[in-house]
Amino acid sequence: MRAFFAARSAMWSDWAPALTAACPELDLAREGDPASFDAVIHAPGYPEDGTAMDFRPFTRARLVQSLWAGVERIAPNPTLTQPLCRMVDPGLAQGMVEYCAGWVLRAHLGMDRYAQDGIWRNDTVPPLAAERSVVVLGMGELGAAVGRALAALGFRVTGWSASGRPVEGLEVLPGSRLDEALARAEILVTLLPDTPDTRDLLDAERLARLPRGAVLINPGRGTLVVEEALIAALDAGRLGHAVLDVFRTEPLPAGHPFWRHPGITVTPHIAAETRPTTAARLVAENLRRAMDGRPLLYQVDRNRGY
Ligand code: NAP
Repeated sequence: MRAFFAARSAMWSDWAPALTAACPELDLAREGDPASFDAVIHAPGYPEDGTAMDFRPFTRARLVQSLWAGVERIAPNPTLTQPLCRMVDPGLAQGMVEYCAGWVLRAHLGMDRYAQDGIWRNDTVPPLAAERSVVVLGMGELGAAVGRALAALGFRVTGWSASGRPVEGLEVLPGSRLDEALARAEILVTLLPDTPDTRDLLDAERLARLPRGAVLINPGRGTLVVEEALIAALDAGRLGHAVLDVFRTEPLPAGHPFWRHPGITVTPHIAAETRPTTAARLVAENLRRAMDGRPLLYQVDRNRGY
């Protein structure tokens, strides 16, 4: 089977060996007649000249496999008529669990109070996780993994998703109960995809429903949060802190107010990376399924956008 590698050339040296090891029968190429390929393996940033990918010449392709979990840049592409599948990777999920657990614990324990300012701050007893209510918006592959890990640490975890689909060991509220979820969120972790329904979800009104001093951790997508409303909530002391990994414009422009706001920690979209060695197994499985005409794994619903 032949697959076209539609990703930045810098990714080739890591991905080509991982993909061919997971799928020895694969003929992987970066050039050639588009009509000769059975599948396209795609990552944002391709084509490297900034133009939109044109899938029309890939007339034989039975699958477009994204190497990213978030597909908002490719799902609306009007030239894409082939089935699109998104990335679900144990390495990616573990990275997200570690990023979120790290920031949740830092916020929960108030570690930033103990800056090296020469003051012996032993006036308060550190809280226990069982005393802290954490809410995770988005109970998909990543949100559910993060929710379960936080619950295992002892936090009181509530999940929220459109369907309210159960996740073992967690209470999950459905879409209609967003206000209730927000009201519980001393720490709010957001792992929602960027779709027309999630865009600007955290506006001034919704941010106002959080408990006073709440901490927001957003490694999902930057479009979720109305930037001016976030800054206003921080300035008014209604929100305690925000840790943001994703932004409406990436890289975050040098002059953006987030960089210098004392209530905001910026991380540069590094929360979780797809790991070629673990992710290649899903790509191989989906390539084989596509060739055999079997149902594909993690196919994107283009109407929903995720
Ligand atoms: P997923 O498995 O598709 O899960 C998405 C979750 O969001 C589902 O629980 C879904 O609800 C829920 N959802 C979608 N639209 C909703 C809406 N309008 N209202 C309420 N809930 C809604 O996705 P995933 O693999 O967990 O990834 C989540 C996102 O993380 C990605 O889309 C990407 O944007 C982001 N991400 C970031 C990084 C990083 O490094 N910062 C890395 C990877 C991924 P249902 O369960 O009801 O369908």
